[in-house]
Amino acid sequence: MRSAFFALTVLLFLCSCDHTLDSNDFETVYEKSDFVETATYDEVIEWWQKLDKASPYLSIATVGETDAGLPLHLIVISPSKNFSPQKLREKGKTILLINNGIHPGESDGIDASMLFARDLLSDPDFESNYQNTVFLFIPIYNVGGALNRNCCTRANQNGPAEYGFRGNARNLDLNRDFIKCDSKNAKAFNALFTTWNPDVYLETHVSNGADYQYTMTYLFSHPDKLTPALSDFTKQNMIPTLAEKMVAANEEMIPYVNVFGTSPDSGYQGFYDTPRYSTGYTALHNSIGLLTETHMLKDYKRRVEATHTFIHQLADFVNTNGESIKSARNLAAEQTLQQTDFPLDWKVDEEHSQPLVFKGFEAYYDTSEVTSQLQLYYDRSKPWRKEITYFNQLLATKTVKAPSFYLLPVGWSEAVDLLQNNGVKMTLIDQDSTLDMVAYEIDDFKTVESPYEGHYLHKETKVKSQYWSKSIRKNEYYLIDLNQAAKRYIIETLEPEGPDALFNWNFFDEILQQKEWFSTYIFDPEAKAMLDQDEALRKSFETMKEDSTFVEDKFKQLYFLYRNSDHYERERHMIYPVLRIES
Ligand SMILES: [Zn+2]
Repeated sequence: MRSAFFALTVLLFLCSCDHTLDSNDFETVYEKSDFVETATYDEVIEWWQKLDKASPYLSIATVGETDAGLPLHLIVISPSKNFSPQKLREKGKTILLINNGIHPGESDGIDASMLFARDLLSDPDFESNYQNTVFLFIPIYNVGGALNRNCCTRANQNGPAEYGFRGNARNLDLNRDFIKCDSKNAKAFNALFTTWNPDVYLETHVSNGADYQYTMTYLFSHPDKLTPALSDFTKQNMIPTLAEKMVAANEEMIPYVNVFGTSPDSGYQGFYDTPRYSTGYTALHNSIGLLTETHMLKDYKRRVEATHTFIHQLADFVNTNGESIKSARNLAAEQTLQQTDFPLDWKVDEEHSQPLVFKGFEAYYDTSEVTSQLQLYYDRSKPWRKEITYFNQLLATKTVKAPSFYLLPVGWSEAVDLLQNNGVKMTLIDQDSTLDMVAYEIDDFKTVESPYEGHYLHKETKVKSQYWSKSIRKNEYYLIDLNQAAKRYIIETLEPEGPDALFNWNFFDEILQQKEWFSTYIFDPEAKAMLDQDEALRKSFETMKEDSTFVEDKFKQLYFLYRNSDHYERERHMIYPVLRIES
């Protein structure tokens, strides 16, 4: 008994031992290089694995595949030493996910996250100070791009010496892939996002574009697109608080300078982030998404320091405001369930601006010796500070009423998989049924002329509604009830008029092609009989014949009548296969 007591005492003593890291043991490549280099992919993963061995608060796991043939890593830093997403959510922890290296040439966050994690774990008060917060890091998201290391592809950027490439192993830009998920990286990301449901999401970048004095710029999910509770929280609380904290940390920042080819003197517009971008995607799940965009002409050390400072301020904000973040998200979830009208597309309101105090450099135009044309330059010896106009209001340009249910045919398995990967609940209709529903006919759309991110993307899609009473076979359709957390994600992916609808990303292109045709010599007599028997059809045929090109084209005339015949596949051709049940 006495020895058991002794063993317990020893055990308790061991358990209360100090887990604080010695930061000297975890110097990074960035520091060893005197702040001019970023670690390679292998060096980054090895560094985190070493940290994993040294700290009980950290766990590194692989969470799916990437197109490079290597796994995607996720690092969890949890003060309670619990690493289960379900348990941590149940215990009400606030979850901050930081994603680095989506564009590996913009490596600032890869290095800054390592410094930040080391700061956390070498803080003797870490466990008590951060007990309500969990930190997740994707050390490098674009693994293939990071392996494709080179000296020079960031033409506008001042360091580091070498870095990865923007395109991933399939040459995809992963910050256009959050909805269509062509990459294995994005599929793994969607899955981990669904599993962890992070409260706040940060993605680290480096800018392109204009020159100005700031090192740090930031971009939140556009607040006008957020559910009201999150819009209010970010506009009134999170953005101003972070801005103040950054000033106090001597790192004043400014909204992302969305200016290319001109100078910011004349003002600029906020960035409209459709769901293909991360902050557009996180908005669909009522998560708070934001980016850092450091200024590419500041040197590498300056940029990593700014990103490091920002991560600290954000972590501190998340840690001290966990309860208000979660109540804003809970309220947003309720508001989404009650919302009936969903905007699908937006445009910047060019009539209304707000003043923004901006610190720029004097811009001037001079004749280029290369092109002999006027060229924009900046004079860094002439800094200025003045009020400019900032156009940061969005107007909804297309709104749709949410149905009660969607019917998604089981055959469109890529769409099914994508939705399920985002936590969308659907049930197979397992009995023969007759239902009233609305089908969309694709009335019009345009297609880009050259491939965009591996797709002939459609745009300006317009649909017309058809009201059907239709018999469906058992096991033919999934029923998707809109009364679920992923409601907005479901609507913005399944409504074809949304800019990042799955329809526009070619998931349903098969319906755009007619499958059955006719021989003119066989159909001609039948067409004659149709005209004889159907007065209304004959009249519209006569109207069509007022167009000389129609009269001159025998096939066009017969095709017009074929489209009006019972032979035409009018429940397939140009009919969007996802159906709406509206009541
Ligand atoms: Zn970027």
